[in-house]
Amino acid sequence: IAEIARELGRMVQNARVYETEQLLVSELRELDRYKGELIATISHELKTPLTTIIGHIELLEDEGVGARSVLALRRNADRLDRLIQNLLDYAQVQERRRFVRREVDLVERAEGAIDLLGQLADTGGVRVDFERPDEPVLASGDAEEIGTVLNNLIGNAVKYTRPGGHVRVAIGADPDWAHVTVTDTGIGISAVDRGHLFSTFHRSSNPEALSLPGTGLGLAISHRIAEAHGGRIEVDSVLGGGSTFRLVLPNPAAATAG
Ligand code: ADP
Repeated sequence: IAEIARELGRMVQNARVYETEQLLVSELRELDRYKGELIATISHELKTPLTTIIGHIELLEDEGVGARSVLALRRNADRLDRLIQNLLDYAQVQERRRFVRREVDLVERAEGAIDLLGQLADTGGVRVDFERPDEPVLASGDAEEIGTVLNNLIGNAVKYTRPGGHVRVAIGADPDWAHVTVTDTGIGISAVDRGHLFSTFHRSSNPEALSLPGTGLGLAISHRIAEAHGGRIEVDSVLGGGSTFRLVLPNPAAATAG
């Protein structure tokens, strides 16, 4: 009887711990949702006046006012615009956790991202090679969100690669997963920075990386999207030796079979 009483005591204790954990989890979820709403509201509020400011800067540019202050205004307004857009994207990923999954052709998505980034690559003197498969490679997910991840990964590869370097985009699949691999010959990422890549607002401590425009949100957003899809992002990089980022998503063939 004493043994049974002790066992019952342990069970009650475990149940209490479980209940407290559940409460904590639901409170954390609620806080997370609140954080997302706050970020979304603030970004929307910032976006409206900024659109007006950019409009007026454009007027000055159209009138041929090329003063240094106008250039500085334009540069900083663009920076704010990028930051706000990233914050909005971040909040949106939080909101749309339960999106509809469809079959998405990764070849088409990668091609879209490469087209979009063509100008940036040309200006930066970076060559982008696409090993385009003849057949579609399908992943299960949301086309727009997968596009956002590819824009971020390919965009970073182009941005953090010096003129004369190249970026290679390859697509493949195995029975369970479909993947897009983005390899660059860029500045690379140190082991310490690699540990924080997916944290919000994290930018590498490397001065060369910091001299380039960025917000430290792109990879945090991409990571969230990949996880919400039941996938992941793998990173392999050596400081000064280039980087490889790989987006891995569920293969719809495996999803239906399971
Ligand atoms: P950012 O807006 O700063 O580019 P990201 O979240 O996309 O933000 O990336 C976080 C940091 O990771 C960047 O600031 C950069 O230092 C580093 N990084 C990301 N991709 C690469 C890459 N392909 N090569 C080198 N560094 C990279």
